Amino acid sequence: MEIKVPQHPSNLRLSEFELISRLFVPLATGEDALGLTDDGAIIPARPGYDLVVTTDALVSGIHFRSEDSAATVAARSLCSNLSDLAAMGAEAHCYSLAIALPVDWTLEWVTEFAGTLGDLQNQYSVFLLGGDTVSTPGPLTISITAMGYVPTGKALRRGGAIPGDRIWVSGSIGDAAMGIALLTDRLECPDGEMSSFLTSRFETPIPRLELGQSLRDLASAAIDVSDGLIADLTHITDTSSVGADVHLDQIPLSAAAEALLAKNSSLSTYILGGGDDYELLFTAPEDNEAVILALADRLQVRATAIGTVTDGNGVRVLDPTGRAIDIGMTGFQHFAGKY
Ligand code: ADP
Ligand code: MG
Repeated sequence: MEIKVPQHPSNLRLSEFELISRLFVPLATGEDALGLTDDGAIIPARPGYDLVVTTDALVSGIHFRSEDSAATVAARSLCSNLSDLAAMGAEAHCYSLAIALPVDWTLEWVTEFAGTLGDLQNQYSVFLLGGDTVSTPGPLTISITAMGYVPTGKALRRGGAIPGDRIWVSGSIGDAAMGIALLTDRLECPDGEMSSFLTSRFETPIPRLELGQSLRDLASAAIDVSDGLIADLTHITDTSSVGADVHLDQIPLSAAAEALLAKNSSLSTYILGGGDDYELLFTAPEDNEAVILALADRLQVRATAIGTVTDGNGVRVLDPTGRAIDIGMTGFQHFAGKY
């Protein structure tokens, strides 16, 4: 279904209610949203399913730059939530949106923001359920809560990893961290095509929804890579009370990341510590290897085994000779500054 969001001149000021009816009502395409005409939405209970709920808040200046485009902010705020649903093995259903607009907000910005949400809704089969629109003396703040369904008891959890399981990751790792480093002039890439690939990995994350749903009966634990590969794997090992050995040279890289790393080996910190890739990191019994590879092939997503769950604790990263590397870094810590 195509969603058309009306365009307006940028200097026009709308009331809260006009803003909602012009920009957000067109996104409320699911019946449960009641066309945003009521005090709340109604999600009918779906027998045989659990409802998975997840929230991510993004604050200008912390989670995105004030100069980032509305399209980037929309994509990052919705897709980070959809990625959480993917990591739980859920099918995305809908999302709610709380937006706090700063004093200098423009209609042009919010129109582009809503337009991008509309495009993503079509892509990922979700709709806007409801939300709140307020103003703030502080920075632009966006909070999205996404909801999805998973057959009762089938959600993927962080706590199910068992010693001997293989550790897998989808796609490639480190691209988004390199992308934001390029955008903020902390990194250079002479190749324009590679550069725009890396920045797009930061600006438009791809939630691995189909993969997550298909892993329900294959994976023992799962998480999405948002804080950084090692930080997120540590969430799995801590919750599962296990350890993990990861082989540095088995971590899947894009051609662009590989080219930059070949010139500067210190960029491995982007691979191990950089976040925002929104790939799925999961563990699975060794016997499931062939099925996982066939699944990845069918979904046209890369899936790579990068290590093994152990009966130790914490994550060890091993070099090609099998020696543990000192990893003096963790993932992104809030308030430590993102970029
Ligand atoms: P109330 O004052 O009862 O909280 P509002 O006037 O804030 O209701 O909102 C009216 C309707 O518009 C509600 O259905 C609400 O969910 C929806 N709404 C408000 N802001 C947003 C938004 N940013 N995105 C989606 N729906 C919104
Ligand atoms: Mg309100």
